[in-house]
Amino acid sequence: MNKKIKLIDVLVIGSGLSSLVFLHSYLKKRKNVEVISPNLNFKKFDNNNTVQHITKILPPQMIGTDEKVKNYFRLNKINLSENCKVFGSLEFGGLSNYWGLQIDPNILNDIKNLSSKTKKEISQSFIELLKEFNLAGKYQNYKNSFKGDNFFSITNKDKSSLQFEDFIIGYKNVLNKKKKIDDVNEISDKFVPKNYYNKFLKKKKIKFHNFFVKKIKKHGKIIEVLCSDGNVNKSFYAKKLVIGSGTVVTTKLILDYLKIKKEIKLKHHPRLFSLYFSSKKWSNKMSFQPSQVHLKPRKGTELFTADFRPGNKLIIDSIIQFKKYLAIFKPILNYFRFNMIFSNTLLNSKFSNIYLKLENDNILRIYSKNKKIDNVFKYTSNLVFNFLRKQKKILPLRINYFPGYGSDFHYFGTLQIGGKGKLSVNEKCQLTNNKNIYIIDGSVFNFQKNKYPLGLILANAKRIAKRIID
Ligand SMILES: Cc1cc2nc3c(=O)[nH]c(=O)nc-3n(C[C@H](O)[C@H](O)[C@H](O)COP(=O)(O)OP(=O)(O)OC[C@H]3O[C@@H](n4cnc5c(N)ncnc54)[C@H](O)[C@@H]3O)c2cc1C
Repeated sequence: MNKKIKLIDVLVIGSGLSSLVFLHSYLKKRKNVEVISPNLNFKKFDNNNTVQHITKILPPQMIGTDEKVKNYFRLNKINLSENCKVFGSLEFGGLSNYWGLQIDPNILNDIKNLSSKTKKEISQSFIELLKEFNLAGKYQNYKNSFKGDNFFSITNKDKSSLQFEDFIIGYKNVLNKKKKIDDVNEISDKFVPKNYYNKFLKKKKIKFHNFFVKKIKKHGKIIEVLCSDGNVNKSFYAKKLVIGSGTVVTTKLILDYLKIKKEIKLKHHPRLFSLYFSSKKWSNKMSFQPSQVHLKPRKGTELFTADFRPGNKLIIDSIIQFKKYLAIFKPILNYFRFNMIFSNTLLNSKFSNIYLKLENDNILRIYSKNKKIDNVFKYTSNLVFNFLRKQKKILPLRINYFPGYGSDFHYFGTLQIGGKGKLSVNEKCQLTNNKNIYIIDGSVFNFQKNKYPLGLILANAKRIAKRIID
């Protein structure tokens, strides 16, 4: 190795919430850190771009981000099949800028196989996370609850096989007495990268490098991170590398690093989108309200979570973007939006159907296989529909729509803690046989019960930051 090369102690990849939460804890004991965080603004694409289809079905929160999504696929050399709807965004904050703002407090169920020390550390970090942003919701000894709309208060709780569950929302709990979601400030109270950065990291010594990572190489104990800004290539050298570039890119970098060309299964939660019509108006002031209710089966094998939110302008806009002929009905749709209930039903990750394969020229192919899950969706949808009907919450009408594999936005489980073989990490989230490479995003978990995974991902990133400095 050239002696003049600048050696970085800890180099972090990515600026999504997993990386930012890591940085916040890391900088409590260390003075400075360097981060590779692309924020590139290329606007030219050839017409054959394989990812045109993905920008046509952007979720409401991501409308207008076409270029960032295309940059993600083009610069990361990802070839996305038409039968697959995986999202990504190459920008400061990544997908964390657009999350639906709900966290599952049920974090312990998916980490049962870990040592009690690790479970304790993750639980402590989870509580710290909720407290530091003063998030609204309930989790064991964290009782910072919010008041949901009583539209969904239910009767005869005990007789049903389904139950409503408390959850945590990604908004600051700024309210003292009433604590209604409707009263938060939708821009400044949100737990998103920009607000998190401004609150905790703005005054810290962080050197952001506006590059994307193309490759990782090892030279003895030193890691070389080969980057590009689209024009110029540059290598960074680090003693320890912390990867938080989101499961898809992280997995691609590791597959390439380990020279693994076999097919890898990406875990996710297939999502059914449903529209119900409520028997009375469910009012709200927000332009995009996080869901107020989670419905889960009490037990059973086909685990799922259904969430519910009242109609809002953003969702109506996105429906019209998708079904252009509805544009003339926009005023009518907006008038009736408070009678609409939108729901996501997220299935157990055992129904995953997304595959990754590293091919020649370092291209990552992402595809789905011919697999039918209509019956599972039909079964869960009937359960939810009959339950809501029995509770007299909705009219006897529903529209179900499956937007495709990957359109659930939850990608994880490729490098699991305690997994088998080279594609796994230990409990400190160090890559097997590579102790100076840490993985801090969703790659390391398999979320089966937890259908809103960001809370556990962030608690874990926080825990790794504490361990890395000890
Ligand atoms: C519309 C939507 C709604 C969602 N709702 C929820 C929800 O309600 N609850 C929940 O728990 N989860 C939700 N999610 C999922 C959640 O947003 C993700 O799990 C989370 O953002 C992952 O965070 P991350 O930091 O690991 O990755 P990301 O936020 O994706 O960050 C990845 C970072 O890596 C960078 N990057 C990418 N490629 C490279 C490269 N080659 N080199 C360097 N850097 C790179 C990106 O620019 C970005 O900074 C939702 C996602 C979407 C899109």
